[in-house]
Amino acid sequence: MIPQAFDYHAPKTLAEAVGLLARFGDDAKALSGGQSLIPLMKLRFAGPAHLVDINGIPGLDYLQEEGSTLKIGALVRQAQLEQSPVVKAKFPLLADAVRMIADPQVRNRGTLAGNLAHGDPANDQPAVMLALGAQVVIAGSKGERTLPIDKFFIGTLTTALNAGELVKEILVPIPPANSGGAYYKIERRVGDFAIVAVGSQVTLDKSGNCQKVGIGLTNAGPTPIKATKAEAFLTGKAPSEANLTEAGRLAAEMSDPASDTRAPADYKKAMVQELTIRTLRTAVARAKGGAA
Ligand SMILES: Cc1cc2nc3c(=O)[nH]c(=O)nc-3n(C[C@H](O)[C@H](O)[C@H](O)COP(=O)(O)OP(=O)(O)OC[C@H]3O[C@@H](n4cnc5c(N)ncnc54)[C@H](O)[C@@H]3O)c2cc1C
Repeated sequence: MIPQAFDYHAPKTLAEAVGLLARFGDDAKALSGGQSLIPLMKLRFAGPAHLVDINGIPGLDYLQEEGSTLKIGALVRQAQLEQSPVVKAKFPLLADAVRMIADPQVRNRGTLAGNLAHGDPANDQPAVMLALGAQVVIAGSKGERTLPIDKFFIGTLTTALNAGELVKEILVPIPPANSGGAYYKIERRVGDFAIVAVGSQVTLDKSGNCQKVGIGLTNAGPTPIKATKAEAFLTGKAPSEANLTEAGRLAAEMSDPASDTRAPADYKKAMVQELTIRTLRTAVARAKGGAA
C-alpha cells in the first residue's frame, strides 16, 4: 500500500502546472482530489514519476453563473456542488447524482474535473454532464481549447486530454424554463460505484412535447454513453408512456455492459432500460413543476 517513489510538484499558477505537465509528459500526473489517483498509486496500478498537485493554484474553485452558463472551475469539489443553491434550484439531475457519489469524505476532496478526467465509465459525473450537454475547457502549454463532453471520453480510463493538458473548467448550459432532470443509480450499498445508473434531462415546449432531451448512461459500457438514439427518438414527441418506453428500449440497445461481480450483463441492460424510463418520467414531472 506504499506508492512508488515520485517527485512532488506544487505549482502556484495554471501556466506553471501545464508547463510541468508538458515537460514531464507521460511521466507526470495531475493531482486534484486524489480520490481515484492516490488509491491507484498505493495499489501500484499507477506509478507516475512526477505528481503535479494543482490544489495550491488560487482561483480555480469558482462555481458561477455567467449568462446562460454555469462555469465550474477545476478545483470545485463534489461537496461544493452538493451544497450549491444554484445546483439545487436549476440542476436537479446534478443535485440527484452528486449526493450519491461515494461518501462525504470523498465528496469533500473529489472534484468534478477529476471525476471526468479519470475517464472511468463507473463514475457518475460523466453521464450527468453528457445528459446536460456540458463542454470541457482544456488548458495546455500552447493555449486553451474547448471540447463538447461527447467528444471527451474515448476509451476506458482514456480521455481526449493529451499529455501536458489540464481540465481548467467545465461549462454547463443552464436549462431554460420547463426543464427537468433526474438521476437514478442502482448500487450494492450506499456509497458504492453504480451497477448501472442513468441521468436524463428534458426541456418541454409550449405544447408539452420534448423539445430537448439528454440521456447519459453510467457503467453501461467501456466508456460513459450518451444515448443518442433514445434522445433523437424522443425529441419532438409527447412524453407518453409508450414513447418513454421506446426511449428506454433504445437506450438499452446502445448500452454494452460487461458481466462482473456486481451483476450479469443482461441484468444491467434491463436496468438501463428501466432507469431510462423512470428518470425520463421524473424529469418530465419536474419540468412541469412537480416531483421534487
Ligand atoms: C471509496 C470511494 C468511492 C467512490 N465512489 C464513487 C462513486 O460512487 N461515484 C463516482 O463518480 N466516483 C466515486 N469515487 C471516485 C471519486 O469521485 C473521485 O474523486 C474521482 O473519480 C476523481 O476525482 P479527484 O478530484 O479525486 O481526481 P484525482 O484522483 O486527483 O485524479 C483522477 C485522475 O484525473 C486526473 N486529473 C485530476 N484532475 C485533473 C484536471 N483538472 N485536469 C486533468 N486531469 C486531471 C489525474 O491525473 C488522475 O489521472 C469513489 C472514490 C472512492 C475513494
